[in-house]
Amino acid sequence: MGNRYMKMPTLIKFEGGLMVSLCESLLAEAPEEGCALLLGNQELSSLYPIKNDWRIKKVWPCCNVWSKEIFNFADISSEIKEDHEMSPSRKTRFLINPKEHLKAHLWARKHNLQILGSAHSHPHGVAVPSAVDKAWTFSPGLMVIVSASGNVRGWWMQSNQSLTPKEVACLTVK
Ligand SMILES: [Zn+2]
Repeated sequence: MGNRYMKMPTLIKFEGGLMVSLCESLLAEAPEEGCALLLGNQELSSLYPIKNDWRIKKVWPCCNVWSKEIFNFADISSEIKEDHEMSPSRKTRFLINPKEHLKAHLWARKHNLQILGSAHSHPHGVAVPSAVDKAWTFSPGLMVIVSASGNVRGWWMQSNQSLTPKEVACLTVK
């Protein structure tokens, strides 16, 4: 997610009821992880160059297409310390279909929005990045995680896995 031109946001603002609908659509996939793309704009200000709030204007739900077969050839899960005693499945893994990603990208561009990051649920865990989430991050970007209880937390993922993801506050705005 994200791209090399994006700097870590200072705040994630969800418009209207988007945070609630994000929770509902992701947790509807339980016991499997649900996933979505977050579309919106960066609110850059020349007056306050440090300020870099991101405004989420649309949640783009995606199918979780993770499957064991896809990763048989490149399974790094054995190298990862599992967060819990579960064999890999969509209950603890997610993958957004690249075709859906492209579709969202084209739609966003048409509407002057950007894909600002991704969101997924942890129906069996807390809203913090798992070892797998960290291991599968290859470029810095925003990852929003929803816990089973509907706790929404934003994380700035870093491609260097030895660096801990930094939390970014999420809130609802009009
Ligand atoms: Zn995760």
